[in-house]
Amino acid sequence: MPSDAVLVLGGGPAGLEAARGVADLGHRAILVEQRERLGGQPDAAQYAALTHGMRPAEEAIGEMVAAVTGRPEVEIRLKSGLTGFRGSAGDFTATLATPEGAREVGCGAVIVATGFQHFDPGRETQMYGYYEYDDVITLTDAEKMLKAGKFVKPSNGQPPERVCFIQCVGSRDRQIGNEYCSKVCCGISSKQAIEVRQLLPKAKVFIFYIDMRMYGYWENELYWPAQEKYKVQYIRGIVTEVLKKGDRLLIRGEDTTMGRPMEVAMDVVVLAVGMEPSAGTRAVAQLLGVRQNKYGFVEVPPGSLDPVATSVPGVFVAGAAAGPMDLNDTMGTAGAAALRAATLLRRVARAGAAAR
Ligand SMILES: Cc1cc2nc3c(=O)[nH]c(=O)nc-3n(C[C@H](O)[C@H](O)[C@H](O)COP(=O)(O)OP(=O)(O)OC[C@H]3O[C@@H](n4cnc5c(N)ncnc54)[C@H](O)[C@@H]3O)c2cc1C
Ligand code: SF4
Repeated sequence: MPSDAVLVLGGGPAGLEAARGVADLGHRAILVEQRERLGGQPDAAQYAALTHGMRPAEEAIGEMVAAVTGRPEVEIRLKSGLTGFRGSAGDFTATLATPEGAREVGCGAVIVATGFQHFDPGRETQMYGYYEYDDVITLTDAEKMLKAGKFVKPSNGQPPERVCFIQCVGSRDRQIGNEYCSKVCCGISSKQAIEVRQLLPKAKVFIFYIDMRMYGYWENELYWPAQEKYKVQYIRGIVTEVLKKGDRLLIRGEDTTMGRPMEVAMDVVVLAVGMEPSAGTRAVAQLLGVRQNKYGFVEVPPGSLDPVATSVPGVFVAGAAAGPMDLNDTMGTAGAAALRAATLLRRVARAGAAAR
């Protein structure tokens, strides 16, 4: 029997916004999150401040969680996941594994919002030494320190004098098979470089990049202030190796603007790791039977101008489950997916009423 509920898989920014949208449009949302908490990566990885506006992530994401919590239209299922799926658009049955045991729910539409995971720098083909040297960290490790208001050399707990970011780690890399740009890491590195300079005005901060890709307003909000106000030094170059030298790290590579080899000493090296589909995105896509692209993200049908469509009618996708996205794009696609799902439920209900 057709159902008036939308199943939203994933309780990160995309899932939260999609569930809120579905409820605002007058329908029921069943919000399923595998963790014990809502909030997605910004919560799980303990992000510090979020662009735009540099608001504390905890505050911004907390507002999104509050917008769905306690609403009669939104049923929240934590520590839960999808294990089975059958039916057709307007009339699906999903089996959920919940702490209370297996449970079947009817839903007219599904929104996949199972997000991304950070690239594991151990898979990098360059020799950056993430698992060898304590002072080689990732953007997410840096976020945790910045959230705590303390940016130190992990090896000795002292404030670093020289910090650098290495861009495109695990993205735009044909050897690894991730030829795509992860979209957010240039902006996030610039944001973190500003935050490091704010905390440690004496530290020198460098960003080694292939080319800087700042989207939209990030150019003015992050890139120019980083250079002009915070004196972050952007160096076009390719870093091929990070070595240990005494209690410092030695960056080896090529300054591609000057066309000469470079060797620079650093105290902390931050790897700007990219975005890959989460294990949940891969698993859920298989269960739902939606097509995935060669990287494992949910594929939006090629040529479609609908950014939330999938290969299965009635199943929509929102946020980083469909590919690298910042929060603005994530929220935009979540709203669009909620609208599409609600429209489908209404069309099915109207057709049912006309047939009676
Ligand atoms: C270091 C870093 C900093 C960033 N900072 C910013 C910033 O300042 N501004 C900005 O605009 N963007 C930023 N981003 C990008 C931002 O994190 C993403 O745009 C956003 O998290 C995408 O939200 P999402 O809900 O699609 O995915 P996610 O945040 O990945 O959430 C997905 C959720 O789905 C859950 N899930 C996964 N699989 C399943 C399953 N099978 N069943 C149930 N639940 C499941 C996960 O547990 C998670 O809660 C940053 C990214 C990085 C890497
Ligand atoms: S956003 Fe920047 S660092 Fe990230 S993959 Fe694209 S170019 Fe590389």
